[in-house]
Amino acid sequence: MGFKKAIVNLMPNPLVKVFAAPYVAGTGLESGLSAAARFWDDDGLHSTIDLLGEEVYDHSEVEDVVSVYLELIEQLKGRRYATISLKPTQLGIFEGEKYCLENMRKIVSTAGKQDLHVTVDMEDHPYTDVTLWIFHKLREEFNNVGTVLQSRLFRTRDDIMALPKKPCKIRICIGIYNEPADIALQKKSDMKDRLFEDMQLLLENGHYPEIATHDVELINRCVSFMEENNIPRDRYEYQMLMGVPRKSIQRKLLERGNIVRLYVPFAEKWKYALAYCKRRLAGNPMMAAYVMKNIVGKSTGR
Ligand SMILES: Cc1cc2nc3c(=O)[nH]c(=O)nc-3n(C[C@H](O)[C@H](O)[C@H](O)COP(=O)(O)OP(=O)(O)OC[C@H]3O[C@@H](n4cnc5c(N)ncnc54)[C@H](O)[C@@H]3O)c2cc1C
Repeated sequence: MGFKKAIVNLMPNPLVKVFAAPYVAGTGLESGLSAAARFWDDDGLHSTIDLLGEEVYDHSEVEDVVSVYLELIEQLKGRRYATISLKPTQLGIFEGEKYCLENMRKIVSTAGKQDLHVTVDMEDHPYTDVTLWIFHKLREEFNNVGTVLQSRLFRTRDDIMALPKKPCKIRICIGIYNEPADIALQKKSDMKDRLFEDMQLLLENGHYPEIATHDVELINRCVSFMEENNIPRDRYEYQMLMGVPRKSIQRKLLERGNIVRLYVPFAEKWKYALAYCKRRLAGNPMMAAYVMKNIVGKSTGR
């Protein structure tokens, strides 16, 4: 386990909640809706609104998740700046892929009636096959659905080549989960080089890459590529997580006429938000130093 991950796991849950506050819109549907409206009104940033939750093992809780998404879709009528995203482990994968597909189908078909896009998020590698199976099934039926591919996985190029032959919106990211060396790259710089290549492969195959990274150098590399190759701005977009401080590059991209979309998660039940918050904190380079400083500060009376 990495040092930062170990520190995050030692943190008491209430402290995780405090530290993770910038990465989460709040509790309740209204918090997600108002954060997305604010990002749009203040800065012209699009959003993907996500109900936090994973590893749900109870039918009635899965039904609750579906209801929250249906309400969210209703509330998003006319708000063209927002999309939504879903996770298989939140929507019944424990019961099998057909049950999960049915739950997602309800959400995607309702969203489709108002032309609202839905992304099926990608979790760790035990779920890659099933997530792609669900995505392929949904894409056969609906135009308003996309998914996520992780450039660290060796399989991702094949997964790109196996995408449906109609245009797909694919979020391409390095992937947040540590994956074993027999299936995934281990060096971040390699993952980022691969992300750049995957983005090109997606474009070449007629898809719409959603370039999800906070790495300014990598973003600038993509900007130069798009410019040199005259790629129209409606063929791709940039995505970042709310809470990661990237105002200046976001402004630069917006000034260039690019779409920039923030991932805006909200929680209904705090216990389901914990895993997401811990991953965000482990990804925050300042966090470990900050926590250590507080601990050392307390123990030395400073
Ligand atoms: C919109 C979006 C959706 C995503 N969806 C998925 C998904 O479905 N599945 C999946 O596996 N992964 C997903 N991810 C996570 C992604 O795969 C990466 O793990 C994450 O973006 C960090 O990688 P990076 O490319 O930003 O590079 P990094 O090298 O990790 O980050 C670059 C720089 O950004 C800053 N930074 C990064 N994270 C933080 C943070 N939490 N707090 C403060 N600063 C930070 C740091 O300065 C860091 O040096 C998503 C990411 C985004 C932006």
